[in-house]
Amino acid sequence: MGTGFRAEVLALRPEIVERRRDLHRHPELAFEETRTAGIVAAALQELGLEVQTGVGKTGVVALLEGAHDGPTVLVRADMDALPIEEENAVDYVSTTPGKMHACGHDGHTSIGLAVAKMLNARKDEMRGRVKFVFQPAEEIGQGAPAMIADGVLQNPRPDASIGLHLWNTLPVGTVAVTAGPTMSAADDWQCVVSGQGGHGASPHETRDPVVAAAQIVIALQTVTSRNIDPLDTAVVTIGVIHGGSAYNCIPTSVELRGTLRSYRKETQELIHRRVREICEGVAAALGCHAEVTITPITLAVDNDPDLSERIAAIAAEVVGAENVRRDVRTMGSEDMAYLMDDIPGCYFFIGSANAGKGMDYPHHNPRFDIDEDALVIGAELLASAAASFVLPEG
Ligand SMILES: [Zn+2]
Ligand SMILES: [Zn+2]
Repeated sequence: MGTGFRAEVLALRPEIVERRRDLHRHPELAFEETRTAGIVAAALQELGLEVQTGVGKTGVVALLEGAHDGPTVLVRADMDALPIEEENAVDYVSTTPGKMHACGHDGHTSIGLAVAKMLNARKDEMRGRVKFVFQPAEEIGQGAPAMIADGVLQNPRPDASIGLHLWNTLPVGTVAVTAGPTMSAADDWQCVVSGQGGHGASPHETRDPVVAAAQIVIALQTVTSRNIDPLDTAVVTIGVIHGGSAYNCIPTSVELRGTLRSYRKETQELIHRRVREICEGVAAALGCHAEVTITPITLAVDNDPDLSERIAAIAAEVVGAENVRRDVRTMGSEDMAYLMDDIPGCYFFIGSANAGKGMDYPHHNPRFDIDEDALVIGAELLASAAASFVLPEG
């Protein structure tokens, strides 16, 4: 059992854990990852890699050139933390009030550096190159687009993109590699319903946007229940409803805002069309006017089927075939999708929960923490998956 990286990854365990804990103590929010980027750049320079900093504001890119020609594989790790006050009582607790690595990106960064170290040791046999991408600002969905705008997908353009997420809905010791859509596209939508305000006692003299907004909220439920193929999947959520300032006044306008999630581009287009039609049509029927704005946040993470098959087989060597899940999907989103758009990619989940140790809080919870065995599993799998492109016998 185990890949060619097993012995090395076990030897690197103290370093991987210590680095993750150091990053955990010093969380940095989106586009503020200067300390983290400095640590990443220094570690990559120490390996002798060609390192670029300031890519997409605070991102770091390193190119590992093998001795022989071959394909380019992109390996991505995200670096940002969240504006959450940590509630864990551990010695590596966040030292920055109001900021916390509550999604596991500290682990991703530490894993990425371990993978760079392990692959760098094999560069003489390597056919091709590995582009290591340490990405900022995943939590706001802007880091990957910013790095792409700064050319991360050029010179050289990757032939494949891979990455992982530590995953606290799966127990440590399991891995999930799912072919096809795995994480959803996300759009932010907003609708301003305008009418004519007036006295609450004289509704007949107004065009009431509160009633129109209420009808819109109900009518929008039919997008998923009546328009989307029951075998497809989508979410229409209204997370914000704002209107009015006094109990006896009918306001002039009401604001609705929410998130739209889908796996397929056609479904996403259908949702956009129906949201607009419903908001505008219902508002018009009630004498009001709706102004709809839809802002794309991320694309769907759509895993290449062949690549997923290959990485699932490697995962079976890492954790045993019985611990490899092929069916884990979420309507959560990831800007990794941009690094996989038009490039075959695979984004997989490393189980990191351990209920026995109280480490099974969900991502973004103030008590989120991972079982650090997941770091070693993640590093072995990510290194082996990257090696499958550039090393003759993995
Ligand atoms: Zn997150
Ligand atoms: Zn995350």
